[in-house]
Parts: sequence; C-alpha cells; structure tokens
Amino acid sequence: MEIRNMKCPNCDATLTFEDSVSILTCNYCGSTIMIDDKAAEADRELIARSQAKQRDAEIETERARNLSEIDEKEKIIDALTQNPSATLGIVKTVLDIIDDIT
Ligand SMILES: [Zn+2]
Repeated sequence: MEIRNMKCPNCDATLTFEDSVSILTCNYCGSTIMIDDKAAEADRELIARSQAKQRDAEIETERARNLSEIDEKEKIIDALTQNPSATLGIVKTVLDIIDDIT
C-alpha cells in the first residue's frame, strides 16, 4: 500500500490518502473526490473494448453457423437435383407417411 498526496480540486488543501481508496472526502471542505479518474476510465475503455470484441466474435460465429446451414441445404438440393430417383424415393416416403396418417 502506498501513501499518496493530491490537492483538493475544490479548496486546494493537500490531501494524503492510501492508493487503495478510489473515493476520498476532503477533510477541509468535505467535497468528494474520485481518485485516479484516468485509470478508472482506462479500465472502463478496456472492458468496453473486450465486450465489443466478444460481440464481434459472437456475430462471426452466428454468421458461420448460418452459412453452414445454407451450405447444408444447398447440398441436399444439389443431391436431389442430381439424383431424380432419390427425389422420387423421398416423395414416395412422404406419400407413404401421409397414407399412414390418413
Ligand atoms: Zn477540499
């Protein structure tokens, strides 16, 4: 733990504090002072940036999933158009199922 000094921005009194505190109350004028505003802001920025990066990764994953789904459907359509008898087989199966239901 380190002891630090700073001037109260309100009354200019010299304040002594431990570097573990983030909020300080001036003993002279009673104003509340945020310590290490810049460090806190840098932290916030870092967090915001990592969250943005995570969002990007999620969007990318979602897009890859959609693409592979489309790819899968296209493969099935390709297979069906290249093999009409397979299409017939599927149609027959569907008709059989409908038959079973009705
Ligand atoms: Zn003060």
